Amino acid sequence: HADIAMYRAKEQGRNNYQFYACEMEDAIVRRAVLENGIRKALERNEFILYYQPQIDLETKKIVGLEALVRWIHPEHGLISPVEFIPIAEETGLIVPIGEWILQTACEQAKLWQVQGFPKLRISVNLSARQVQQKNLVEKISSILQTSELEPELLELEITESIAMYNEEYVINKLLSLKKIGIKIAIDDFGTGYSSLNYLNKFPIDTLKIDRSFVNQIKNTTDNQEIITTIIVMARNLKLKVIAEGVETVEQLRFLEEQQCNEVQGFYFSKPLTVEGIQALLKQPTWEENN
Ligand code: C2E
Ligand code: MG
Ligand code: MG
Ligand code: MG
Repeated sequence: HADIAMYRAKEQGRNNYQFYACEMEDAIVRRAVLENGIRKALERNEFILYYQPQIDLETKKIVGLEALVRWIHPEHGLISPVEFIPIAEETGLIVPIGEWILQTACEQAKLWQVQGFPKLRISVNLSARQVQQKNLVEKISSILQTSELEPELLELEITESIAMYNEEYVINKLLSLKKIGIKIAIDDFGTGYSSLNYLNKFPIDTLKIDRSFVNQIKNTTDNQEIITTIIVMARNLKLKVIAEGVETVEQLRFLEEQQCNEVQGFYFSKPLTVEGIQALLKQPTWEENN
């Protein structure tokens, strides 16, 4: 679409105003098309889960997988969750879609066990609307029952802003989930909220350091202070800490030195299909590999 807009703009004598007008029009049209399409996407089987490995830095083994949804649109191809999850939120369709994601991820995790792969934790992102959903705990319990996945192997990821909205309500909901045995992670940690009070108030197990901090790990110490502080704090609070978005060996070495528990990122693997994960799990550990 950008290409078409550019072409139109050139045709019209490189008029910047025209160019932006076209881009905006394209964005509005695309949004309307996606909003219409998403209503049918679930029944048409257009969603697919990818899985990204999480590696324990002590054993160098894959210990968990984060489920990440994609939408294969019949005309527009692969659409990122960054684009369609907000639309699903606004239309309320995130509730049935989120349920499908939970069900599919839990069933897949169980299937891998049955197929003889090592037991892996499965992480699933929850959206704001799902957390506010009245019967969320019942839905998840029933998914765990039908999939026969051990509740201890399911980790739910919520962002700080989700946790902060309607605090008491969310705390109680998380406590009910913890009673079943489910784990709770704070996603994109460090980007959302200025107060750290909630770390004591909320029953959480894991902090996932946002990749914007991991990005900044360079050979200068300045940028490393924040990440070091988060890791030390997590350790003191007895929380597991996972670094997101690890792309380089320098970042990996630094996180190892700081005794970060786990890492996730393109350095190890992009999110993969079921087949891709199976191929990866058949390989030796990363240490032997690298
Ligand atoms: P997130 O939960 O923080 O997921 C991590 C995102 O970072 C993923 O993007 C992943 O592909 C990307 N990533 C992982 N390693 C690297 C790296 O080394 N470098 C870079 N540049 N990126 C990396 P993705 O799959 O596009 O998902 C984006 C966001 O969409 C997620 O952020 C999450 O907030 C949301 N999302 C994805 N799947 C779901 C879902 O099933 N349900 C809900 N509610 N939200 C989802
Ligand atoms: Mg996540
Ligand atoms: Mg994240
Ligand atoms: Mg995110």
